[in-house]
Amino acid sequence: MTLDGKHALVTGGGTGIGLAITRALADAGAEVTITGRRAEVLDAVAGPRLHPQVMDVTDEDSVTQGVAAAVTAHGPVQVCIPNAGIAEGRALHKTDTDFWRRIMATNLDGAFWTIRECLHDMRRAEWGRVVAVSSIAGLRGLKGASAYTASKHGLIGLIRSLSEDYLGTALTFNAVCPGYVDTEIVTRNVASIAARAGVTEDAARATMIATNRHNRLIAPDEVAQAVLWLCGPRSDSVNGQCIEIAGGQV
Ligand code: NDP
Repeated sequence: MTLDGKHALVTGGGTGIGLAITRALADAGAEVTITGRRAEVLDAVAGPRLHPQVMDVTDEDSVTQGVAAAVTAHGPVQVCIPNAGIAEGRALHKTDTDFWRRIMATNLDGAFWTIRECLHDMRRAEWGRVVAVSSIAGLRGLKGASAYTASKHGLIGLIRSLSEDYLGTALTFNAVCPGYVDTEIVTRNVASIAARAGVTEDAARATMIATNRHNRLIAPDEVAQAVLWLCGPRSDSVNGQCIEIAGGQV
């Protein structure tokens, strides 16, 4: 499968799942713009076919300007991967508006602005791929994480609606829904669950692993390979789908 000549944009492309997706797309021949807030993180992984662009997905102007700069440097975006996200759990009765807004701004507003800005080029080219990184929390309730769950459900709604809007065209819109993947998000959550629940970090980690039906953490590249397939020509008829990558049924 080749993505030669295609320009892909991956939000949160400097770390974790986003970096694995970026490398898979670049290995398939794409020029990949990787975005995030921390220039030093992006610069550390930049190289041939991997182009850093500082962009804060919670800031509409930053997204508009960031996508425009990427297009100027590397041509129209044809593959858009809204992946940037934050995963923090908090009981709803302890959720203040600032916390709720921070989760929604990153996970949902950020995807909305990123997809909207990338759509201009895709509509002109009459070809495009959007693959959002949602979560199993986009398909079912995740205990103790109502804001995160709502944001990831919202992201799937956005993708499903767009797949209907562009039915019959060569633009497709899909989501991947991973269980727990071995990234910094899991490391951070282990520490916070251990502190909140008063258990050891090993016990907190075991609880998270047990959520995955095959009882192990998922490797970022397992998610990346599914995204790569959804970006390629042999998935033309796959549209509006949410692919679970969770070791079993969610
Ligand atoms: P990471 O923390 O490694 O990745 C998150 C990325 O998002 C970082 O590169 C970060 O870069 C970027 N980001 C966060 N906030 C912003 C912002 N305001 N503007 C721009 N970029 C931002 O974790 P993962 O790789 O695990 O997470 C990637 C996605 O996968 C998330 O959407 C997450 O919800 C989802 N996911 C993760 C699972 C897991 O178990 N790991 C399971 C299911 C879904 P920077 O901080 O430099 O801005």
